Amino acid sequence: MFDTPTYKIADGENRIFIKREDLIPVCFGGNKARKAVEFFKDIDSGNYDCVVTYGSSSSNHCRIVSSMCAMRGLDCFIIGPVEASKPTYNSRMIEILGAETTFVNIDDVHDTIENKLASLRTAGRRPYFIPGGGHGNIGTGAYVSCFEEILKYEAEKNMKFDYIFFASGTGTTHAGLVCGKLIYKDEVNIVGISIARKNPYGRDMVLSSIKEFLAEKEDLKISEESIDKATVFVDDFISGGYASSDKDTKDTITRILKLHGIPMDSTYTGKAFCGMEKYLEKHKIKDKNILFLHTGGTPLFFDDINDLA
Ligand SMILES: *Cc1c(COP(=O)(O)O)cnc(C)c1O
Repeated sequence: MFDTPTYKIADGENRIFIKREDLIPVCFGGNKARKAVEFFKDIDSGNYDCVVTYGSSSSNHCRIVSSMCAMRGLDCFIIGPVEASKPTYNSRMIEILGAETTFVNIDDVHDTIENKLASLRTAGRRPYFIPGGGHGNIGTGAYVSCFEEILKYEAEKNMKFDYIFFASGTGTTHAGLVCGKLIYKDEVNIVGISIARKNPYGRDMVLSSIKEFLAEKEDLKISEESIDKATVFVDDFISGGYASSDKDTKDTITRILKLHGIPMDSTYTGKAFCGMEKYLEKHKIKDKNILFLHTGGTPLFFDDINDLA
């Protein structure tokens, strides 16, 4: 258990708490760190000598995987789309950490990964593949553990959260939290703020991750209906989609930095926090305990810094 720091940051119309996944002590932390630690348990207990994964030049996931490989002396191969290959603080770190990055047209990504794995095997290597973003049941399971930490916090403080908000991207983090809620029969409302995907596609991806994870836990007998009800995916705040943001998001990032000394970024956490505030207002939610899960992305804060007021 990481038991990432959780504390109250505001006491206005609602009591707003934050859980700092960005402070997970693995190379600038974040949700990708929580997921990768689980993948590396698999790697460390198996007979692998290198890792292959996928992501863009701004990928928090690729930074973490590069770091965890470097710490073990494992070679790390990253395949990414050339459409998202412009240098960032993450890509610079990935380079320093010694990972080998190959950018190809997005349509060629799948085949390039297959070819890389095949050629490594032909050369007598033993590669482990981590899906982009740490997607899949291992990543989902990491966020069931996070949900357990939230329950533990509530028990210690003798309180309950009414809502949990966070940035929802590929949906693994979202899926893990919903699985936690369903497994522990908790009442909390889980609201994923989409950072790019629209409904119904974005929500369908979350649902399929939930079902894939729960398929291994058939004895729990969780109904389709309860899964459906528990999965709230809000696509009102995506702005121009991935890595785009509006003025409100940037103002929110500046305000949160000034008020609380907490860095957020315009792709994920700043967008989600800003969306959360608008959602609370729109739905006239008052006098509730609200938890915002800060999912990390600290290097992206620095990519944005010149845009901040
Ligand atoms: C990847 C990421 C997310 C989204 O997580 P998913 O599990 O892909 O939905 C949110 N915040 C940050 C900082 C991320 O890097």
